[in-house]
Amino acid sequence: MDNNLFIFNTLTRTKEKFEPISKGLVGLYVCGPTVYSDVHLGNCRTFISFDLIYRYLLYLGFKIRYVRNITDAGHLEGDRDEGDDKFEKKARLEQLEPMEIVQKYTIGFHDVMRAFNNMPPNIEPTATGHICEQIEMIKQIIENKFAYEVNGTVYFDVEKYNKEFSYGMLTNRLLDDLIANTRELSGQDEKRGRLDFALWIKAKPEQIMRWPSPWGWGFPGWHIECSAMSSKYLGDTFDIHGGGMDLQATHHTNEIAQSQACNHKAPVKYWMHTNMLTVNGVRMSKTAGNGFLPGELFTGEHPLLEKGYSPMAVRFFMMQTHYRSTLDFSNEALQASEKGYARLMASLKTLDSLKPSDTSNLNIKEIEKKCMDAMNDDFNTPILIACLFDCARIINSVNDNKEKITIEDIAILKKLMHGFIFDVLGLKQEAFESNSNKVLHGVMEIILDIRNEIKLKKDFIASDKLRNDLSKINISIKDTKETTIWSVEQ
Ligand code: AMP
Ligand code: ZN
Repeated sequence: MDNNLFIFNTLTRTKEKFEPISKGLVGLYVCGPTVYSDVHLGNCRTFISFDLIYRYLLYLGFKIRYVRNITDAGHLEGDRDEGDDKFEKKARLEQLEPMEIVQKYTIGFHDVMRAFNNMPPNIEPTATGHICEQIEMIKQIIENKFAYEVNGTVYFDVEKYNKEFSYGMLTNRLLDDLIANTRELSGQDEKRGRLDFALWIKAKPEQIMRWPSPWGWGFPGWHIECSAMSSKYLGDTFDIHGGGMDLQATHHTNEIAQSQACNHKAPVKYWMHTNMLTVNGVRMSKTAGNGFLPGELFTGEHPLLEKGYSPMAVRFFMMQTHYRSTLDFSNEALQASEKGYARLMASLKTLDSLKPSDTSNLNIKEIEKKCMDAMNDDFNTPILIACLFDCARIINSVNDNKEKITIEDIAILKKLMHGFIFDVLGLKQEAFESNSNKVLHGVMEIILDIRNEIKLKKDFIASDKLRNDLSKINISIKDTKETTIWSVEQ
């Protein structure tokens, strides 16, 4: 396997050559959704980015175990240690059992992932399915003296941990600075230190989602589930851990602390973080109220949307920005992506009908190398897409007899375009066709039939007029030996 991949590691803040712990094998863990409501497009951006990363690792020939969890317990409002449980609150609102909420939104999440053509992970563990593992891990952390129990709740002792390890390593922050930025403890607080966080939380009397533990009835804190499940399926140290940037400072920082405190080993070699999807510069989130649901995006039924956009146009829109840059949503950008996606798909069709020549002055191998270089440079999809548009330009100019291509180069181009467009970028030919599209196809079939009849009668003036009139409304038609092809010029 020819591996020249470089990954930006949040831990070291540099691009590093990717060397998996075991040659040829990759362990990948991505924090999954909290299934108490529908995923918004921001969440989707993170999952689509990691789907791309997974796909490119597969493309390079790695054997991967991809684990993405489902958070179905232990996530309190505002990501805090006290307050309402997200599942129980939603269950009260919708008058359902908490596990009905979990089931409903897990199904919805899977539907959305399928719509965006995201590949499923190899293992999708749930927090509720791994309560024993979480309890065992907490017991070990207490035994190693990095956690303490107060009245049925177990807290992680951050200051004690920081004496041996570095708590702020993932964000490159000093403990004193972090403490200074956290609210002071009140007399009612059970915690010893301001930064301490809960590993296990005592259940309130009304709490439905509760489990027995050595510390009484309760439920796990949000962070411990990912430490327990990632080490169970990928080992105490594994290759890549990912999630959105908003998880870096707390959730992932705490994951590192828990795993180190339990196993005395750094859990992850490469930490990867995706940047946020924003709307008018504001991060898309459930609480900000600016989160379109994918369903709304597909139908266009949202005040901020001028029209509906297909899942592949949206996926292409996301791929046009690097995963570590912010991506701002706008109707204009999506409409441009829609056209770009259509142009790429149209070039694939044209590629199938190219006529080879004996000679050529094109250097397709060089473009192939550029595509690989782009992806090897920390998954640089904007550059990859620019290379694919170069290919589309070549295809069109060969088709217009402005350039020549050999049969060998056609084969390389096909492999390259199909590999990068379908396998790596995860795009597919859109099965979905809007009604107006279907009507247009039907009308064009009728027009081309009429034009054929006119041509058979050798009325070339009328057939040329038809072609020119169509061209005025951006529909171009091309006569080949066998048939007539039409397309909408973008
Ligand atoms: P949650 O369901 O809130 O736990 O979030 C699931 C994933 O979506 C996490 O990896 C978050 O970091 C990510 N996420 C949340 N909001 C956004 C956003 N606006 N843009 C990109 N990713 C996000
Ligand atoms: Zn997580």
